[in-house]
Amino acid sequence: MNKTLEVRKNFCPQNHPCPAVRVCPTGALIQKGYAAPEVNPDLCTGCGKCVRQCFPGALRLVDAARANAA
Ligand code: SF4
Repeated sequence: MNKTLEVRKNFCPQNHPCPAVRVCPTGALIQKGYAAPEVNPDLCTGCGKCVRQCFPGALRLVDAARANAA
């Protein structure tokens, strides 16, 4: 995998069931209550389906090398 999913919690209103959780084909996204979702990097394939569901832009794929350096 060369992309890593980044959750930018400050972009998430954290007041609704996250629609991105339902579309993840691997169960990599978990939401506790209405909090911003968390990603399990071991399950995430970087497919980007969740990114397209998140209209506030709280989910984005970044280069894995960049994410590891952050
Ligand atoms: S990028 Fe794909 S596999 Fe990773 S959390 Fe989003 S929907 Fe799931």
